[in-house]
This record gives sequence, structure tokens and C-alpha cells, in this order.
Amino acid sequence: METIILNANDPESISRCADVIRSGGLVAIPTETVYGLGANALDENAVAGIFATKGRQPDNPLIVHVASVDDVKPLVSFIPEVFETLANKFWPGPLTLIMKKSDLVPSNVTAGGHTVAIRIPEHSAALSLIRASGCPIAAPSANPSGQPSPTKAIHVKSDLDGVIPYILDGGDCRVGLESTVLDISEDVPRILRPGGVTSDELAALLGAIEIDGTLSTDAPRSPGMKYRHYAPNAPVTVVLGAPDTTADYIRENMCADFAALMFDDYAFNHPNVVTYGDSTDYVAQAAHLFDALRKLDDMNSTAIFAQAPHENGLGRAVANRIKKAAGNNIVDLGKK
Ligand code: AMP
Ligand code: MG
Repeated sequence: METIILNANDPESISRCADVIRSGGLVAIPTETVYGLGANALDENAVAGIFATKGRQPDNPLIVHVASVDDVKPLVSFIPEVFETLANKFWPGPLTLIMKKSDLVPSNVTAGGHTVAIRIPEHSAALSLIRASGCPIAAPSANPSGQPSPTKAIHVKSDLDGVIPYILDGGDCRVGLESTVLDISEDVPRILRPGGVTSDELAALLGAIEIDGTLSTDAPRSPGMKYRHYAPNAPVTVVLGAPDTTADYIRENMCADFAALMFDDYAFNHPNVVTYGDSTDYVAQAAHLFDALRKLDDMNSTAIFAQAPHENGLGRAVANRIKKAAGNNIVDLGKK
């Protein structure tokens, strides 16, 4: 099969992709977070195709994308009180809400669990495709499991060429990191994965929220968080501390066949240094991180050092992805 990149602004592209979704196939779709590998969320076989194509572990549930708040009702057995407040404020956008599932949702979507993850994406092509398909679309990132997520159509092409019929090209992803996952199925809302909506924004709206204390341990409540993720082939070491200190450390320890992920304002001149934004510009870092990890991969280096931002605001989600890419291989200079 040849994989064709279609212009997402062309209505004909949307209808061709909708035909594939309706007939149980898979297409890659642009969202504001990352590119997704989409299938009809109510078709168990189509959903099985997502797991097979990505090599995704069956215990890692999928996010279901819908186009309106009304589309949520058939998918859940109970609408929590905070739902409307959250949906009004953050949808469409990078916030995924976990609620108790209804019987309509196939069990492989939720990895056999009793809750389902749902969001309304902001990208107009994703919304048009969901409407044209006439069904909710389950979509994890459109890459083989474990590797950096795609934020450009060409990333998907290099990862899934020949495996899916179409990639809807809707440009570079605005946010560049996956959605925040918020569990509202129990009394106190709990962040299971940091992402495009920050904990401060959620706390400002809700007051009490919990942040999953197991985010970096072996048994997180969001099953996907336990896997090595976003990872280039070479081992990554994240160097934590003040950016001038971490930049010095990286420069001193850099070998010819090493590579480094650095802030623009602290980078040094070396052919294997890739930058991803200024040290305090978390929006730029989020937008460029996965592309930078892919560039580092292409260098075939034997080891990669990485600077990570302070864990404020969106910096928390950026640092989370870098630590995952490093498999928690950390040098903490701040503690010296
Ligand atoms: P991805 O689609 O790869 O961005 O991953 C979706 C994330 O949401 C993973 O970390 C999943 O483990 C998490 N997730 C999806 N559904 C649920 C659920 N029902 N309960 C807890 N976490 C979920
Ligand atoms: Mg993913």
C-alpha cells in the first residue's frame, strides 16, 4: 500500500479519510497536540488495528475523540458534576477527561477497564473528520509505540509509510505535546499525565485537584505512563539543574559521537547539538521537542544529553516527556 499525504484543507481529503474510517480502516490525523492514528472507536476490529499497527501494549487504553459535548453522553454511564465546567473552559483543546464508560465503548478501547478517556480536539481538520465519519475516533499518537510522537505529517510518513492509506496533513501541531489526562471518575479530580493544559489552570478552575504521585514510578494509574516512551534509539541522560550549570556539564562530558538536546540560549557550537527553544519559553520547547528528538535520532549518536526546563506551567509536561525519553536516567546537578 502506498501512503498518500492529503491536504487537510481540501474537503475531498476529509471525505476520503472518512470513507476509510467508516469502513474500519486507519488514517493519520492532525490534532493540536500530536498527529493521531485514528479509527472508529465503536468498531472493535478497527481499534484492534490501532494496537497492531503501533505495536501498542493491550493494557494501554486509547483516547476517544469527539466533536461535541453531546457526543460524550452515549460513551459514558455517568457525567460527573465538574464535567461541564471543564468542557466549557478547555474544550476544544488538549485536555482528556476520564469518566465511567458505557457499554457502547468496546473493551479494547479502554484496555478492559471501566473508564473511558475522551476529548474534543481543537484542530479543525480533526473535527471535520469526526463529523464526516459520523463516529467517535480513537486515536493514540501515529508512531510505533515507545518512539517520539509525530508533530508533522512527514514524521508520520517516515514512521508508518506503506502501513496506512492516508495521512491528513494539517501542518505542524500547535501544542506539540500530548493532552493532559485528568481523571474525573472519582471524587477528587486527579491529573494522570501532564500535558497542554497545566495543573495551575486546572486548580484555578476546580480548587482541589490531585497530581498522581506515581507519575514517575512503576505503577502509575494512567497505564501508558509506565512504558519507556518518546525515546530515540541512543540512550538519553537528562541533566537537571540551573541551565548554565547543565550546559557546562554537557560541554565538558560531550564526546565526538555524542549528541545533545539544549536550550537555544545555552547551546554551544557543536554539530550534534539540537536546540528546542529558549530556557524559559515552555511553549516553544513543547512545540519543538519531538522534532528535536527525531533529529537527534537521525544523527546515530551513541548517547544523548538533554537539558530539561523547570517544572512550572507547561514546563512540567516538557520535563515529563524528556524524563520518559531518558527512562529516568538522570544526573541531578541541582542536588550537588
Ligand atoms: P496516547 O494516546 O498514547 O497519548 O496515550 C493516552 C494516555 O491516556 C495513556 O497514558 C493512557 O494510559 C491514558 N489513558 C487512556 N485511557 C485511560 C483510562 N481509562 N484511565 C487511565 N488512563 C487512561
Ligand atoms: Mg503516544
